[in-house]
Formats: sequence, structure tokens, C-alpha cells
Amino acid sequence: MYKTLSGKEVSKKILEGVRVESDKMEPKPSLSIVLVGNDPASEVYVKMKVKKASMHGVDAELHRLDESASEAEVLDLVAKLNKDRGVDGFIVQSPLPKHIDENKVIQSIDPGKDVDGWTLANMGALFLDPKNREIFLPATPAGVMEMLDHYGVEIKGKNAVVIGRSNVVGKPLAMLLLGRDATVTLCHSKTEDLAAHTREADILIAAAGVPGLITGDMVKQGAYVIDVGTTRVDGKIQGDVNFEEVIRKANCSPVPGGAGPMTVAMLIKNTLKAALRRGDR
Ligand code: NAD
Repeated sequence: MYKTLSGKEVSKKILEGVRVESDKMEPKPSLSIVLVGNDPASEVYVKMKVKKASMHGVDAELHRLDESASEAEVLDLVAKLNKDRGVDGFIVQSPLPKHIDENKVIQSIDPGKDVDGWTLANMGALFLDPKNREIFLPATPAGVMEMLDHYGVEIKGKNAVVIGRSNVVGKPLAMLLLGRDATVTLCHSKTEDLAAHTREADILIAAAGVPGLITGDMVKQGAYVIDVGTTRVDGKIQGDVNFEEVIRKANCSPVPGGAGPMTVAMLIKNTLKAALRRGDR
């Protein structure tokens, strides 16, 4: 009776839309991805991004640097990609090795090519005006909003509870929901009585990275629950939500097949957006 909110399905629709546009373009939109080191999860994400981009008419190039690369080397590569007129957008895959200041690297990206939407310019513009269509929205929060819209979820005036206050997921997502007139509660690891908040949520977004954090008794009947969490447990990806319990009383996205494919699709959509603005650069 309750819906499984399929990021797989919604992302397919978004990527087909990208394909229609990229087919009309020459040269094709181009995405570069900087990968430093050999983090196994990053390897998987990056491969997926390159594959999905290539399948939908977006040229994707992977720039690998060794785990031991210095901060200066990473900054040099970013400066090169900033200048390269053949590159429409690029990302530096997080996390970077510990000896590199990740924020310094991210903030050195040209905001016009920042298709992850993590630079101060894009993030600041989002906080000032979440309806601003000119900026690049961070992919995961943008993907969650697309999913809610795809399933016709009413946002205005509703209680939206976001679990997790990171700069790349929780905080921007809270701003996007606020921009759509939700009443937003941002919960985190120090929140007292998490369940008291989640039970009030018409829209519940879990992005804590704690497998099984959200159980059936913590969810309001008929709510819309989106599980952003991805934690590898015994080689398997697990979300923050106990899907089997929650789907009996609310609409819920699965892991895998929920927020993950949406994140990839929104990154590729941002690259198309950057490519359509080539003339402005
Ligand atoms: P993070 O570690 O930076 O932040 C986690 C947040 O969760 C923190 O704000 C923390 O306060 C909160 N938190 C931790 N334990 C909690 C608890 N018991 N109760 C309430 N809040 C708690 O992580 P992040 O980068 O925001 O990512 C969050 C999760 O989403 C991770 O599992 C990550 O892998 C996943 N993620 C998935 C995608 C995707 O494409 N599917 C993209 C980004 C992040």
C-alpha cells in the first residue's frame, strides 16, 4: 500500500533528459573527476559517475593522483582544470587523503565549474536564496528534492525532519526544504530524543550514516522517508532506515537504489547545465 521511492527510476528519467540535450551538443558536455588515492568506496562511486555520464552523452575523464600526492599537486591540477576550456565542470572526489586540506582544495575550484556545488559561492548563494536557478546545487540534496517532486510530495507547510547536519548533505537540504516552505527540524548526533522529532515528520530524510537508526516505531504513518545513509557492513551497503519495518507504515526509498543513483544523476545534470553556459565563461 505504501510506495517504494525508487531513485533508480527517477534518476533514469533525469538522465534520459540529459541525453536529449547532450545529443544536440557538439562538443559534448565534459566532466572531469579528480581521484586522489585508492579509497575503495571512492573507486566505486567514481566508476559509476564515469559510466553513467558516458552512457548519456557526457564525456567523462578521470584524473588520478597517487595517495602520496602533495596538496600543491592537487591544487595545480585544479588550477589546470579551471583554465581548460574543454572542461565544462569537474569535481574532486571526497574524501582526500588526510595530509591534504580538503576545504582549501574545494574552495580553489572555479564556482562556474563547481558541479558538486560545494564552493562558498554556490553554497552561500543557496543559503541566501534556495530558489536561485543560476547556481549549482549540491548533488545529493538536489537529488532528494527531485525525488520528493517526482512522487508528488507536498512540501509547503509540512514538517520536514533532516537527520545529519553535514555541509554537503544535511545543511543544504534543510535550506532547500525551507525554500519550499517546509517547517524544518535539523537533527544531529547531539539531538535529545530523536524519535520525538522523527515521529512528527511528514517528510523524513536520514543522512547520519548509522545503519538501522530509523525503525518503524520512529516514523509517522503515511510519511515520506528518504534514506541517504550508505554504510558498508560486511561488504554490503546499508542505509540508515530499517526499510522492512518502515515500508509497512510509510513511503520509503531503499538502499541501494534510492539516494545513490540520484546523486550521480544530479551531478551529470549539473555538468549539462555548466556546458549550456559555455558561452558565458
Ligand atoms: P557526516 O559524517 O559528515 O555527517 C553525519 C551527520 O549525522 C552528522 O551531522 C552527525 O551529527 C549526524 N549523526 C551521526 N550519528 C547520529 C545519530 N545517532 N543520531 C542523529 N544524528 C547523527 O556524513 P555525510 O557526508 O553527511 O553523509 C551522511 C550519510 O550519507 C553517510 O552514510 C554517507 O555515506 C551518506 N551519503 C550518501 C550519498 C549518496 O550518494 N547516497 C551522498 C552523500 C552522503
